[in-house]
Amino acid sequence: MREPSDPNDLVTHLWSSTARKSDGVLEVGGVALSDLVAEHGSPAYVLDEADFRARARAFRDAFVDYDVFYAGKAFLSIAAARWIAEEGLGLDVCSGGELSVAERAGFPMARVELHGNNKTVGELERAVRLGVGRVVVDSFDEIERLAAVVAREGRPARVMVRVTAGVEAHTHEYIATAHEDQKFGFSITSGDALEAVRRVLDAPGLELLGPHSHIGSQIFDSAGFEVAAKRVLALHARVATELGATMPQMDLGGGFGIAYTTQDDPAEPARLAAEMSAIVAHECRALGIAEPHLSIEPGRAIAGPAMCTIYEVGTVKAVRLDGGAVRTYVSVDGGMSDNIRTALYDADYSCTLASRVSDAPPVLARVVGKHCEAGDIVVKDEFLPGDVAPGDLLAVPGTGAYCRSMASNYNHALRPPVIAVRDGVARVVVRRETEDDLLATDVGGLE
Ligand SMILES: *Cc1c(COP(=O)(O)O)cnc(C)c1O
Repeated sequence: MREPSDPNDLVTHLWSSTARKSDGVLEVGGVALSDLVAEHGSPAYVLDEADFRARARAFRDAFVDYDVFYAGKAFLSIAAARWIAEEGLGLDVCSGGELSVAERAGFPMARVELHGNNKTVGELERAVRLGVGRVVVDSFDEIERLAAVVAREGRPARVMVRVTAGVEAHTHEYIATAHEDQKFGFSITSGDALEAVRRVLDAPGLELLGPHSHIGSQIFDSAGFEVAAKRVLALHARVATELGATMPQMDLGGGFGIAYTTQDDPAEPARLAAEMSAIVAHECRALGIAEPHLSIEPGRAIAGPAMCTIYEVGTVKAVRLDGGAVRTYVSVDGGMSDNIRTALYDADYSCTLASRVSDAPPVLARVVGKHCEAGDIVVKDEFLPGDVAPGDLLAVPGTGAYCRSMASNYNHALRPPVIAVRDGVARVVVRRETEDDLLATDVGGLE
């Protein structure tokens, strides 16, 4: 890490598009976060509506001939689902709970897709009854289960077959020979994928759309997609020659990366779209097959940069390290219950002092939470003004994906609200939990 020339400055590309500082106070969507905290308390997730919508639109516009499904597992609420619908995207859900948000939001069900490696019969029934656009099947058990549901309900289902292409992508590295020792999908190389396609074709009421491949997350370029697309298109060709059937579609999944720190440099949607389309066109020509209709499922790249988390500093502690250096531990009023990614994935985040200007020289700080766990770290390393003190507000950008959606009540923490900001107005879209919410499920059970 390099020491910044001025730790007050925002590294703008890590923040949502309307974030700026005015006299040291961070503003998002025209709302000063100090005012937002005064009204709604901290910690809080701050959702930049214009930015979220613009990123959804950017994918839809760049991947113009594709169907773009927003992966709701990144972040889902009724308001977010409405915005996704209004921006013309589809919605990918992977549980009954996520499906209920789509229902509550009035999301057009034909544009909903259901994922999951162990959907219950109840979830499948509900999806079929609601008429979701497609179900992505993930096991032979499930193909049988779905076929039975469709027969019972007397309604057909459109189906994609989740396949493993033996590619694993992460940031700028990808492994073309990834082991297939994981729970998702049917292996292409073992022949299971072809067999799954055959069983779907044979099941009355199941309409086969094509294969689905999701290769990883936080991917910065199209190299991993290229290897996966080639292997999946080879399956299209085999299905044509061996089963005499055409698979009209192909889904290349999500995983488009975002910048969490200055080290990250993800490609723009437009470039990825151009490259992925060229790869598919070229490969289809080489195989002599028609180009399938394509779809993708970005989650993080839409929600991630659109949100930041605002915390209040509670304690500051200088800890002397072996070798004599000092690390400043800054404790905030949240932590691993609202952002598990640092502890779970060793993820990197950045942060900024959000409530005032400081001319103190920067110190290397670690921002930690208030949980009973040494691994409760929010930001591993950041240069903060050396006079950071209790009562200051700190904001962490890039917390829109897999933070609220993975939040827990560890230590009986109350999960923070999601507050949408736009044109100077703040609206609570998910309220803060209360102790009554927490205790509502604890029924005692003593009698
Ligand atoms: C998680 C997931 C996504 C979204 O991944 P992002 O990294 O958030 O873009 C898309 N499709 C499937 C099948 C997933 O499991």
